[in-house]
Amino acid sequence: MTHLRTAVIGVGHLGQHHARILRSLPGVELVGVSDANPARCAEVAANCGVPAFENFRELIDRVDAASIVVPTSLHFEVASEFLNAGKSVLVEKPLTADVAQANHLVELARRRGAILQVGHIERFNPVLHAVPQSNEPPRLIEARRVAPYSFRSTDISVVYDLMIHDLDIVLSLVGEPASRITATAWSVFGGLEDVATAHLSFPCGTEAHITASRADVHARREMTIRWPCSVCQLDFATRRSVTSVPTAAFHESTNLFINPPFAQMASLREKLRGTFFEVIEQDYSGGPELLALELEQFVTCVREHREPLVNGVRARDAVLLADSILRAARGLAPIGLVKAA
Ligand code: NAD
Repeated sequence: MTHLRTAVIGVGHLGQHHARILRSLPGVELVGVSDANPARCAEVAANCGVPAFENFRELIDRVDAASIVVPTSLHFEVASEFLNAGKSVLVEKPLTADVAQANHLVELARRRGAILQVGHIERFNPVLHAVPQSNEPPRLIEARRVAPYSFRSTDISVVYDLMIHDLDIVLSLVGEPASRITATAWSVFGGLEDVATAHLSFPCGTEAHITASRADVHARREMTIRWPCSVCQLDFATRRSVTSVPTAAFHESTNLFINPPFAQMASLREKLRGTFFEVIEQDYSGGPELLALELEQFVTCVREHREPLVNGVRARDAVLLADSILRAARGLAPIGLVKAA
């Protein structure tokens, strides 16, 4: 197993966990951590038993790969310096909040032969295993990701902060770019947009309605995916799912469902679950920490030079969709949509 030298740049709320997990992975050395806040840098470095570096540039030549967990507005500056030196990076989501910068990082990673993974952690949520395989595209996807205000990530709107998770998942489910977007978004706390809702239409016929808010009372992360006769409800927070798929009996009984005799209605209702629809309830809670799964994949991809699940191109597609949604909400012309990877 190749010995891998790593660092974490930005050890605030999330970066401290990147550092904790990286130093625990077999064959991985956490060479140091960097944070622009000297007290924070010293605290996390001491907790991990590694040196603190206030200037991240001092770490570039000492590592093979780095987790970049600085505020989004700094992702481009920090990631491009590591990539330019041929070092692989796991950049937290969103890749950037700017399409041109995202494209630049994708191209830089390609030119330098470095791995570029992006922290779309929800893709590692095992609840996604509940989504049934289907040859048909979904008819409707509804997503709701809401949370109380956290006072963090104020450098980006809620579209880049929270909605980006669902945009990446929707693109992975539909497999093509949206062709029509309507959106509205507004600020609650006086900065960038804190609430946003978007309706997306795809050429294959899928419609998606996605709402994100960081101004709610309770946290919820839910998605419902509907095909013509099937439905799958996912709760990303509890990692529970409910799926209903029609059985052969449903397809053979089409004459039973419209205006049945009154006397048969009660027994037909009882047969909905079981006879006409297979209903599967699953509980994926209690599994490994999602960030550990994501970092393990990063380490494997760097060692074996493999493409990660969410590579730079896929993350760039999510950035492009987020940008188009914000432009629609702000009444600006879109700059174009690209095909999902
Ligand atoms: P944070 O503000 O808590 O931490 C960022 C840290 O970066 C701070 O400690 C800050 O001092 C440091 N920093 C700033 N400039 C620096 C520089 N030049 N060099 C080194 N350190 C620097 O923010 P956070 O909540 O941890 O978010 C960080 C990133 O992680 C953001 O891009 C955010 O979108 C992302 N994030 C992703 C998820 C997820 O679900 N995947 C969740 C939370 C945050």
